[in-house]
Amino acid sequence: MAKDAELTTLRNLHEKLAELRQHEQEILDEMGRLLNGELGIGAILRRLEEHYSMLWSVRYSQPYVWAFAKDRPHLKRLIKSLGVEQLELRMGSYLKNPDPFYVKAKHSFAVFVASINTHAVAESSRQRDEPCQHEPRCPGTWQHYRLLEAEASGDEALIATCRKYNTVQA
Ligand SMILES: [Zn+2]
Repeated sequence: MAKDAELTTLRNLHEKLAELRQHEQEILDEMGRLLNGELGIGAILRRLEEHYSMLWSVRYSQPYVWAFAKDRPHLKRLIKSLGVEQLELRMGSYLKNPDPFYVKAKHSFAVFVASINTHAVAESSRQRDEPCQHEPRCPGTWQHYRLLEAEASGDEALIATCRKYNTVQA
């Protein structure tokens, strides 16, 4: 039997190695994304942050103020567990939710994270494969999906804001 001090050392080493392995996996995932011609994690984070902030600004008429040190680790974890598209859909569902509990929390990202399973959305509702017919044309695929979703919601303010963002980026 190992002595207490040895056990503690072993536990610490075990934890360190687990962290290293996780970091390795993150590097592998990032390399895989870049090799597939997909967005790197930095660009994915920016895209989701912009998406959230845009939806938030429709409701509160100003951009969302992030607590990056706290919010980004959650965002990274959610990207890993849910994927970008499901996460975008859940953001949309959350920020449209008029529940007084969310309104009182000013639809904060922290409350979104805490209630993440409440906002699950079926992905089949998206018309993914149709090419963009918008006028003016959407600058990219995800801007196009974002506008499609806004149109599906019938929310005029949201549609207008999506169009504005699309124009800025074009
Ligand atoms: Zn479009």
